[in-house]
Amino acid sequence: MEFRSHMDIALEEARAAALRGEVPVGAVVVAPSGAVVARAGNRTRELNDPTAHAEILAIRAACAAAGSERLAGHDLYVTLEPCPMCAAAISAARIGRLYYGAADPKSGGVAVGARVFSHPQCHHVPEVYDGIAATEAGAMLKDFFAGRR
Ligand SMILES: [Zn+2]
Repeated sequence: MEFRSHMDIALEEARAAALRGEVPVGAVVVAPSGAVVARAGNRTRELNDPTAHAEILAIRAACAAAGSERLAGHDLYVTLEPCPMCAAAISAARIGRLYYGAADPKSGGVAVGARVFSHPQCHHVPEVYDGIAATEAGAMLKDFFAGRR
């Protein structure tokens, strides 16, 4: 099967999050069949919930839809490098492949910081592909934070 990126949907979710006044990050979960089973953007402010990151909300919705705490063979697309909390959730959910956009040197937990997937305690490591539509995802974040100053 030919590879088809779903980062465009994640970027749409990020854009919608920015319009809600949330940090513009979007995530999409894709089933092994190629079907999009969940999509979400950040809602930490709206829900008064520091764990309501796009990845967590998308994983929750995908698990609910699957009726399972695990998403083996599923792919997760997210516009920004996941933080340590989300990386741990991605591992716990047994996500097969992680595609992310912009690097997050400040709060990321994959390539920098806690490097969750490189830790010996990490029992499931997804395949990781970074830099997917990174320019667009990064520009959105930059604009958002520039506009708040
Ligand atoms: Zn996170």
